[in-house]
Amino acid sequence: MSPAALAAWLKEAGQPAFRGAQILDWVWKKRVVSIDAMTNLPAALRAKLDECFRLESLEHAHTQGAADTTRKFLFRLHDRRYVESVLIPANPALYGEASDRHTLCVSSQVGCAYGCKFCASGLAGFSRNLEVAEIAGQVLAAERLSGERVDNLVFMGMGEPLANLDNLLAAIVLITGPQTLHLGARHLTISTAGLVPQIRRLAEHPQQIRLAISLHGATDEVREKIMPVNRKWPLAELLDALDYWNSRKKQKLTLEYILIAGINDAPEQAVLLARHARRLHAKVNLIPYNTVEGLAWQRPPAAHCAAFLKTLERAGVAATLRMEKGHEIDAACGQLRLQQETAEGIR
Ligand code: SAH
Repeated sequence: MSPAALAAWLKEAGQPAFRGAQILDWVWKKRVVSIDAMTNLPAALRAKLDECFRLESLEHAHTQGAADTTRKFLFRLHDRRYVESVLIPANPALYGEASDRHTLCVSSQVGCAYGCKFCASGLAGFSRNLEVAEIAGQVLAAERLSGERVDNLVFMGMGEPLANLDNLLAAIVLITGPQTLHLGARHLTISTAGLVPQIRRLAEHPQQIRLAISLHGATDEVREKIMPVNRKWPLAELLDALDYWNSRKKQKLTLEYILIAGINDAPEQAVLLARHARRLHAKVNLIPYNTVEGLAWQRPPAAHCAAFLKTLERAGVAATLRMEKGHEIDAACGQLRLQQETAEGIR
């Protein structure tokens, strides 16, 4: 619940306003796991809070991975659905060996309606939007389970964040608010399959949130083959919306491009991708395709990925070939949850 909503609830309950700050402090700073532990609140208020609220929106079901690598958390929701969050330690090459920086990859929906052909999250269709507390709660839960601080958030887990924009923005209030998680907006990156009207709406948002676009094809012909969303919002419309984004925002856009053998990895695609990136002053993040069980796609050979990268670099584009983390723990979106729900017979 947002500080504003909590204040309204307390007022309605006839409580003094300072209780709001006390409760927020217990939840977000001291991180208590029971309302009973909020010892500076009167017993009657604690009883009432206990009756009306839940402190935990996510129940930890499973962790895969280890402390020095990528860890993937599977959470059970109140309706027995599952979502995943992935905690990724910083690249020591970029931040120094002793770096303890961590990025959390956060989910925004259970399943996904957009049906990208290479993605595990969309395989079983869309179940529901995550609630505000289920989005922001992933950060609290990951920090509690790992004992680490999360410094960066990427909305690159399950789901299409811009299809759940209202809840996403409300969660961002909690994630960035000084009384709550207090992460800087610049440390938040929203990734989208390319929902044009929502990109335009987000461009109006006052906070300097970063945006990443799952491009994955540099022409309509290629993109359409793997991303059905491209039929609704073709490349020209997407690029126009991104020009608009740039006119409102200071941070550089990121273009994500997964490399799938024989599908989108031709040298001509690299040339056109470079052209889009230059137009948008965007950096490009190349990601060799993460194998998903049940899907036939394959990653190109390493030398081929390197050549694709070279073409971008020669064209003057800032590009990286993403260092692989988590391949062995099924860290591609949605894989763990699909296995769990299948095992439980939910699907
Ligand atoms: N719906 C949003 C965010 C979730 S997906 C989006 O499309 O951006 C986060 C990123 O993972 C996207 O770039 C997506 O294309 C990519 N992705 C999905 N499946 C993948 C796979 N099997 N291997 C590598 N990247 C994958």
